[in-house]
Amino acid sequence: MTSFENRLARRTRNMGASAIREILKVVSRPGMISLAGGIPAPESFPMEVVRELTAAVLDKFGPAAFQYDLTEGFRPLREALVDYLADKGIAATAEHILIASGSQGVLDCLGKILISPGDQVALEAPTYLGALQAFNPYEPAYVQIGTDDQGMLPDALADALSRQPVKFIYLVPTFQNPTGRTLPMKRRRAIADIIQRFDTLLVEDDPYGDLRYRGTSVPPIKTLAPDHVVYISTLSKVFAPGLRMGFCLAPDLIRQWLVLAKQGVDLHTSTFNQALASEYLTGGHLKRHLPRIIALYRPRQQALLDAMKRFFPDAFTWTAPDGGMFVWVEGPDGMDMEAVNQKAVNRNTAFVPGTFFFARPGDGRHTMRLNYTMADEATLTRAVGILGEVLECAVTKMCSRGRTRSIDGD
Ligand code: PMP
Repeated sequence: MTSFENRLARRTRNMGASAIREILKVVSRPGMISLAGGIPAPESFPMEVVRELTAAVLDKFGPAAFQYDLTEGFRPLREALVDYLADKGIAATAEHILIASGSQGVLDCLGKILISPGDQVALEAPTYLGALQAFNPYEPAYVQIGTDDQGMLPDALADALSRQPVKFIYLVPTFQNPTGRTLPMKRRRAIADIIQRFDTLLVEDDPYGDLRYRGTSVPPIKTLAPDHVVYISTLSKVFAPGLRMGFCLAPDLIRQWLVLAKQGVDLHTSTFNQALASEYLTGGHLKRHLPRIIALYRPRQQALLDAMKRFFPDAFTWTAPDGGMFVWVEGPDGMDMEAVNQKAVNRNTAFVPGTFFFARPGDGRHTMRLNYTMADEATLTRAVGILGEVLECAVTKMCSRGRTRSIDGD
């Protein structure tokens, strides 16, 4: 039997199977309560609207909805997105918008056109795992920029940029995955100043900005430094992820290269799905449906936070984001959340250990990400009760191990 190992390109060495996908396989077992996934609730999909829109697409666009189309994207969708982006304060014309197969499609193309082996890419620690997966095959070197509970530290970014040439910075400033944190306006301004001063490129990934449960929205960094930001977003969290409907607004040269890269990948994103998305936006469906998604998730998040307060041991801290899909938990130093997750899975409850979200292996072993969009309030409360017991047990063991060690050492 021939082994094809030696046929594989060098870049495959950096393409490990996603640890999260492995966890999600376990989690799909019957009876399991999963706080591990990062996916929208199926009941958040506007199924009746989709039925209506499908008929509208057939009537309005006919065979054109099934034909090959421009790589840049289906014109009516790009036009609809001009208004959508204007609501966020982002000025765009249809010519400047590129549609992609999910925002993940943009991340891959960015890696392809920007990263040569060894190039430095600056990102938050922790950051979105899917961005690491998209960039890794192009063999970057990561520069982890420090964060606190308000997100990336502008001084740490300026310091990193003054030390080494950085190809681009990748940032999820609003309801970040995995922490849920949002960069306040003051820091957005500071980061916009820094990227302009260093004349560098910022990739602003914004899939969660619309999922706000309280407080007032903060404008994207794209509005503050339009010539230095590639803005990426998606309809995955506000319509349906299976449609794979992402888009981006990039400086001209970058956009032109993204188009070429995308052409080689898939020619263009599904025309029918783009037509559906354009009807969803122009028909005012997003504006009507978004409050329903928010009304579904807000009490789920509250139930999770209330239960954590009740059941989690004292040594733990966590974020309480104003929106998005995640809460980030930090345990005491020395805690191994991968081992804790194993214990939790044995009791039919799962989460994602936070270490997977760090570019540097081994960082963040004492952290975890909890998702609250996939389970109802009662289930979330039950899951957090179980997690609380598993964590309590892990902390007690750690403490007693610590005591034993110190006695041994005496
Ligand atoms: N960026 C971030 C920060 C995400 O959390 C996700 C989805 N998990 C994506 C991009 C990818 O989304 P899409 O479905 O648009 O590819």
